[in-house]
Amino acid sequence: PNLSKKEEEEAIRRSKALEEDDTEVLRKVSRQEYLKKREQKKLEEIRDDIEDEQYLFDGVKLTEAEYRELRYKKQIYELVKKRSEEAEDTAEYRMPEAYDQEGGVNQEKRFAVAIQRYRDSGAGDKMNPFAEQEAWEDHQIGKATLKFGSKNKKRSDDYQFVFEDQIEFIKASVMDGDEFDSEQLMESSEKSKAQSELEKLQADRKTLPIYPYRDELLKAVEEHQVLVIVGETGSGKTTQIPQYLHEAGYTKRGKVGCTQPRRVAAMSVAARVSQEMGVKLGHEVGYSIRFEDCTSDKTVLKYMTDGMLLREFLGEPDLANYSVVMVDEAHERTLSTDVLFGLVKDIARFRPDLKLLISSATLDAEKFSDYFDSAPIFKIPGRRFPVEIHYTKAPEADYIDAAIVTALQIHVTQAPGDILVFLTGQEEIETVEEILKHRIRGLGTKIAELIICPIYANLPTELQAKIFEPTPEGARKVVLATNIAETSLTIDGIKYVIDPGFVKMKSYNPRTGMESLLVTPISKASAMQRAGRSGRTGPGKCFRLYTAYNYQCDLDDNTVPEIQRTNLANVVLMLKSLGIHDLLHFDFMDPPPSEALLKALELLFALNALNKLGELTIMGRRMAEFPLDPMLSKMIVASDKYKCSDEIISIAAMLSVGNSIFYRPKDKQVHADNARMNFHTGNVGDHIALLKVYNSWKETNYSTQWCYENYIQVRSMKRARDIRDQLEGLLERVEIELSSNENDLEAIKKTITSGFFHHSARLQKNGAYRTVKHPQTVHIHPSSGLAQVLPRWVVYHELVLTTKEYMRQVTELKPDWLVEIAPHYYQLKD
Ligand code: ADP
Ligand code: MG
Repeated sequence: PNLSKKEEEEAIRRSKALEEDDTEVLRKVSRQEYLKKREQKKLEEIRDDIEDEQYLFDGVKLTEAEYRELRYKKQIYELVKKRSEEAEDTAEYRMPEAYDQEGGVNQEKRFAVAIQRYRDSGAGDKMNPFAEQEAWEDHQIGKATLKFGSKNKKRSDDYQFVFEDQIEFIKASVMDGDEFDSEQLMESSEKSKAQSELEKLQADRKTLPIYPYRDELLKAVEEHQVLVIVGETGSGKTTQIPQYLHEAGYTKRGKVGCTQPRRVAAMSVAARVSQEMGVKLGHEVGYSIRFEDCTSDKTVLKYMTDGMLLREFLGEPDLANYSVVMVDEAHERTLSTDVLFGLVKDIARFRPDLKLLISSATLDAEKFSDYFDSAPIFKIPGRRFPVEIHYTKAPEADYIDAAIVTALQIHVTQAPGDILVFLTGQEEIETVEEILKHRIRGLGTKIAELIICPIYANLPTELQAKIFEPTPEGARKVVLATNIAETSLTIDGIKYVIDPGFVKMKSYNPRTGMESLLVTPISKASAMQRAGRSGRTGPGKCFRLYTAYNYQCDLDDNTVPEIQRTNLANVVLMLKSLGIHDLLHFDFMDPPPSEALLKALELLFALNALNKLGELTIMGRRMAEFPLDPMLSKMIVASDKYKCSDEIISIAAMLSVGNSIFYRPKDKQVHADNARMNFHTGNVGDHIALLKVYNSWKETNYSTQWCYENYIQVRSMKRARDIRDQLEGLLERVEIELSSNENDLEAIKKTITSGFFHHSARLQKNGAYRTVKHPQTVHIHPSSGLAQVLPRWVVYHELVLTTKEYMRQVTELKPDWLVEIAPHYYQLKD
């Protein structure tokens, strides 16, 4: 941290004063601040050491600034480690990722601080923003006593499980609904009951808020080349507009393409639209996502991820096949969407017949309009019922647990209506699903049925449909979703939203070039979107698992666009392949930090994808053929040299599936871990272990039983097989022969290193690792086969920041290889 001398002295003085009572400190300053101050103090202490050691750190000479940063981080990690060890003793069943939101942010402390500040300020007495609080609480308590009150001791005991750790909420505000005729709405859906399935779907289409504006919208599309469309989530933008365009004849002279930031959304929306049109999915209506193309020659409405449309530019730079491109969910501002903006804006200039629709769920449409040369904005008036917003009275230490308790609380005390819980990822969703099931079992038949529906990117298609099925009478549905349910998917019947206030986001440090996944607080804009999900079919309630103060003071107004917080190597390679050389002047809506651009160029240069002049090399051209990160693509192209392309594409496919290969049921963790360790015999490293898993599965003729016995997720394996098939096809395109070299592990490891030499790390005396190129302390993830082995040198696949900066998927490395493989990047010292 670059503090001025004065600030530093002040910080040290304060930290000394605060040190006197650690617990007191934690209540008064945020944990991050606290750690920072402790650190300042320690820096003071080690100042003399620094001079003595001449900034040597494990034998490498650093600048003072580097040295300080290193020490700083190291000490923070130590402190954090201590905390997390304490926490581990009490944890139930949880993978580290599921509940650690450290990365400098500790929910409990953060909220404790917020509450304290709020109380200190006396604001509660003066303005009392929670005027209705008491009434609501009384009402809640009344309900609880009425049903499970102490007079009926036995019943109350039955519910003790739910209520022993009840969470107190404060009703703080009501988000207004919109004026509309709800009776008419009821009537029309009532009427449709008697009709056939298809007729019913057709009738339902007419009840959507967008329907009255159909003709007006079509007229606007006809009159303008570019149109910005704004409408509340669920108004029918994604499912209806492409159909309207089809009905109006736009598909006669080309396809209508509609991009989605998420795979699941593309699939599920396409499925819905094909149903509404009464056609088979993949025929007239299809979708295209990475590694899965469900379209045919017949396809005229094509839903796809924004990344896939981006790749289509490679084959067809003017998108000649399309008559309309709809960039949907534009407000999400994903990296691919942002790059798409620049590209479609450009082609619209020389393709006057191409229609461009930019649709968004939020109201900051002016920005889109400005960017697209003052394109007109078409607003679809909303239709939403009022939503009551409730905050927790006190901060919640563990949002996972709080979400579970809240869901059960709603289930037993609140009127019928489904629940939507926002979680940060698959692992977390699975954890919550498991705990919820466990607790419900504990309650037996005393409560109404609770149907648990998870939804996340890797969920198989057949299970995805389940979330849309109507809830049976007397039962209640609880949907456990990632951010996908914020605006991309609309689930009817949701009346209660539980919002823990977190999202998993990529964060990138352009200075070091390190990227990691991090659970971060959401923005106010996200929080409002989430709350709005509960008011679609009737008045709703949103339970925020954080305090009102927190909302006001700790959440940013808007989420930072991905382009400003991510590694750009992929995009740069893509743009270079499209012949766009001057990246600094590319028409970005919000330009990425130039440091990040330079870093990407540097990496691509190191990978030999670009030459010294920044031009695409033959290597770069071959790499761009693969829909993978440049390092993975490089690894595949390099496998040609080491004659092991067969093995490498299996590894690449397994890595692309993500971290859902192995599973660990709560009651069989030991068995599962043993099964997993079988693949690690000989400490071959995680990459080779993945290869062994794949090959063993293949040997059993892709047996499901084998997966079951080895605690391996069969659907992840099937996906890996699909990806592998496609990579095999792509090998041919770049003229690499499929060759197998299964027993030469060194060749395989060298190939991995050829792609990932950038990700090398060296063991330190304290058991941690230091990344080689830009010194940073990292650790082997506990799930790695090498977590206990600690080889001197390793190469890793990715970093994840939870309690620590963890390397996931690790393989041992010989340092000579770095010099052999990347001499321009690594040189031998002495
Ligand atoms: P928007 O894009 O404006 O947010 P959508 O077009 O996605 O709105 O949704 C319109 C309606 O279609 C919603 O009521 C939603 O419930 C319904 N819908 C969308 N996808 C599905 C699906 N896969 N299954 C059932 N209903 C769906
Ligand atoms: Mg939509």
